[in-house]
Amino acid sequence: MQYKSTRNKNNIKTSRKALLQGIAEDGGLFVPEEFPDFSKKLKELLPLSYQDLAFEILKVFFADFEEDALKASIQQAYDEKFHRKEIAPLVKKKNLFFLELFHGPTLAFKDMALSILPFLLQLALKKEEKIEELVILTATSGDTGKAALEGFSNRENIKIIVFYPINGVSPIQKRQMITHEGENVLVVGIEGNFDDAQRGLKSLFNDPLLKEELSHNDLSLSSANSINIGRLIPQIVYYFHGYFSMVQRGEISLGEKINVVVPTGNFGNILAAYYSKKMGLPINKLICASNDNNVLSDFFKEGVYDRKRDFKTTNSPSMDILVSSNLERLLFHISGEEDHTVDALMEDLNTKEKYEINASMKEGLEDFWGGYAKEEEVLEGISKVYKASSYLMDTHTSVAYCVYEKYKEKTGDSTKSLIVSTASPYKFAKSVGNALDLKTDSLDDFHVIENLSSMAKLEIPLSIKELKEKQVLHKKVCKKESMETVVKNFLGV
Ligand SMILES: *Cc1c(COP(=O)(O)O)cnc(C)c1O
Repeated sequence: MQYKSTRNKNNIKTSRKALLQGIAEDGGLFVPEEFPDFSKKLKELLPLSYQDLAFEILKVFFADFEEDALKASIQQAYDEKFHRKEIAPLVKKKNLFFLELFHGPTLAFKDMALSILPFLLQLALKKEEKIEELVILTATSGDTGKAALEGFSNRENIKIIVFYPINGVSPIQKRQMITHEGENVLVVGIEGNFDDAQRGLKSLFNDPLLKEELSHNDLSLSSANSINIGRLIPQIVYYFHGYFSMVQRGEISLGEKINVVVPTGNFGNILAAYYSKKMGLPINKLICASNDNNVLSDFFKEGVYDRKRDFKTTNSPSMDILVSSNLERLLFHISGEEDHTVDALMEDLNTKEKYEINASMKEGLEDFWGGYAKEEEVLEGISKVYKASSYLMDTHTSVAYCVYEKYKEKTGDSTKSLIVSTASPYKFAKSVGNALDLKTDSLDDFHVIENLSSMAKLEIPLSIKELKEKQVLHKKVCKKESMETVVKNFLGV
């Protein structure tokens, strides 16, 4: 399988190159040249373990790796560092289905792809004629940073730099990052929001001078953000797995359609669901759930993407995003792969902070339904579900739950639906505690976690317990204009 750029479809790369580059030279994102049809293979794939299923899917998208090496990478990526044998368990509570994607080492769904991405990049590096050192640049709204650090620290030929918004992440998220050990690691707070960090990084990626300077020092840049296909493709696996789990439990029959509900920020997770649908997984609607930063929900209603609005810091910080990078990929697909159209829309977004898609593209949005939940609704959702079924949702999962309720009410659709559960409630302990009327004001997050744990009888993962004692190693904070300097200083160029 080869990959092409959304802004120039004649710019075609092997999966190896696309992985290593992260983003195309023309500023576009890489997308698969075509989508394999798995609709006839569902029965055969149904009984497979998570790892075997991952292999069947990844070997098609990363065909330039040797199959044995790929298989070994999958085994090492999805091993005991996941707290559950099932990797991505399906949990049924009353008539809700949750696909829990937070049992990896950093307790959020970013682990699902970031535990394998380092292996894919190392396989790709090995095949290069000249081994350069890879510098992974990452902007995070809270969860990607830690998951990338976990995956990439102390790996040969790799350095990793993470930028997080100083006031835009939860205390636990921040602590996970600033205590992270590793020789090859830099964690920096930026005075700005996630969009500032992401924009800053994109401009570094697209700076030919920097690229040349780094290249003289045998360094090259790549990304651990979901603009990298190595993030996107492994996420397809859990949609198939979640669907098959519903079939195996007798909740649906093979071939029956389901909806998926995805709490969305950078549009990476839900795009993987869309790709699964394109590959023949029986999906009816893709329900895109946003928080108060509701650009996407407006987009799906009107076909207008308008980022000219206040950036809001909410209780679901990992979704506090106004520029959802991966939407560019959807635009490419629904335009019938018209790269010049995508290019023009992205230009509009840059210059006018807004774009509108044409009528035929709007038809392509029919697979989706967009909605959003306000902060208060998110807290009510947590409380309501807990009271009904003793199930503890984190704030992001609650966004999905709330939007799903709205969807059902608006459409009357009773298709069984899979709610994607993206983080452990302990990562956002205060908000979850407040939702449940625990008195949290005078307590630190660790205390709130203990109270939540004894109330809900839900075990506290070891990684959280250890966090309390860890030393702060990364105190650096910079202005958004200084990201390049910080990167260069760290690399010594
Ligand atoms: C990153 C993240 C999201 C949003 O996922 P996207 O792929 O950016 O849309 C949702 N919930 C949690 C907990 C996250 O970390």
